[in-house]
Amino acid sequence: ARVTRDADCLFCKIAGGEIPADVVRENEHTLAFRDISPQAPTHVLVVPRDHHRDVASLAAAAPGTLAELVRTAAAVAADEGIEAYRLVFNTGEQAGQSVFHVHGHVLGGRAMTWPPG
Ligand code: 5GP
Ligand code: ZN
Repeated sequence: ARVTRDADCLFCKIAGGEIPADVVRENEHTLAFRDISPQAPTHVLVVPRDHHRDVASLAAAAPGTLAELVRTAAAVAADEGIEAYRLVFNTGEQAGQSVFHVHGHVLGGRAMTWPPG
């Protein structure tokens, strides 16, 4: 499959191996690595290798890759031995998205509150 990259994108650089990351899972179309600023005992980011700005764009362009991303998140949780986890896609600046290469946050290993802040 053709890999599309954005030259200025942090997660494209991680996916391309140009910036190091603590990778915990690698699949055909997705990659999982630990968040540099963990907000829970388990905090892993799952990203497509290709550049898509948000989860809806990924769903439209490559639904199979989104499905692989969700399966990878579940596999990460199983690897970490956590039975409950959050899979979060911050979408848009006001919702907390700071990196515009879609990423699912896998968060777990502690009690979670609802609603989020
Ligand atoms: P967002 O705010 O876009 O939902 O999430 C971006 C996440 O990327 C944040 O949780 C942030 O800590 C993480 N992050 C930012 N820069 C890096 C980096 O260079 N390496 C890793 N592993 N995570 C990063
Ligand atoms: Zn990117």
